[in-house]
Amino acid sequence: MTTRAPHPETWLEVRPQGLYCKPGGFYVDPARPVERAVVTHGHADHARPNNAKVLATPETLAIMKARYRDAAGKSLQPLAYGEVQKVGEVDVAFAPAGHVLGSAQAVLSYKGARCVVSGDYKRRADPTCAAFEPVACDVFITEATFGLPVFRHPDDKEEISKIFKSLELFPERAHLVGAYGLGKAQRVIALLRQAGYQRPIYLHGALQALCELYQAEGVALGQLEPVAGREAVELAGAIVMAPPSALADRWSRRLPDAVTAMASGWMRVRQRARQRGVELPLIISDHADWDELTATLEEVAAPEVWVTHGNEEALVHWASQKGFRARALSLIGRGEEEQESE
Ligand SMILES: [Zn+2]
Ligand SMILES: [Zn+2]
Repeated sequence: MTTRAPHPETWLEVRPQGLYCKPGGFYVDPARPVERAVVTHGHADHARPNNAKVLATPETLAIMKARYRDAAGKSLQPLAYGEVQKVGEVDVAFAPAGHVLGSAQAVLSYKGARCVVSGDYKRRADPTCAAFEPVACDVFITEATFGLPVFRHPDDKEEISKIFKSLELFPERAHLVGAYGLGKAQRVIALLRQAGYQRPIYLHGALQALCELYQAEGVALGQLEPVAGREAVELAGAIVMAPPSALADRWSRRLPDAVTAMASGWMRVRQRARQRGVELPLIISDHADWDELTATLEEVAAPEVWVTHGNEEALVHWASQKGFRARALSLIGRGEEEQESE
């Protein structure tokens, strides 16, 4: 940013609808329907229905259409990673965020100043989406879902291997894995495939449409079969994926003596696993953990950081001590999907 470039705090403001870009006339991930929305990814706390105009990656638009049908937005404009679109007086581009399929950081450039709204992101490899790309900027807006030093996610492969160990111990029991329907379920399936698991994986009906969408977008998930219509004997020793809400409901009783697992960053907190009756907690998160958050701030190296979406205070404190200008940015309506999707 040259000395004459307008500081992003002069052209970005928090309104009740969300983060508003004045010279662009748009909101990023608005919490309420607006005239013009730039949407970072398909999770419901970022992509809401009924905006008039939506600018997002093609994959995010496909997800919004699958979830919201006609309410996805009146006019949907795709913008692929790396392309630039002028909106009002602002150049908007998307860079991969590594969070879920199609997830993007919104790169906003105005008169020589640049702000990156990173949305939700993670740094470790995910076979179902493009990897996070650091983009140089004057202000970096970061999430902080797991913004406390206690949150250090273990290795994904180790977590997935817990399912295989349990299957060896209990070959006659179904293994029911609770995973959020957008992103987490597909990632767990892809990790199982990477680990060499080739048998069919059975799906709760609520997961089917988005798994098909991922496959149509070229993400290989192997053979997937609906649970519906299966006899209990067929599901003995099988891996069954379901949304977290289905773990404890009547639906799961059809499975033969199921071992209940759940994939979530929150499985680090034992009490949460216990509350849900999860026997096999799998700490698999689509968000950066503490080390990844701090490493990202250092790598992006923006002189100024705005922190939102979770545990802002600890990360603001860390960043200030490291010499970043840092502050919390309070956005309404973030994290509503957190309990399930992380
Ligand atoms: Zn998200
Ligand atoms: Zn979120």
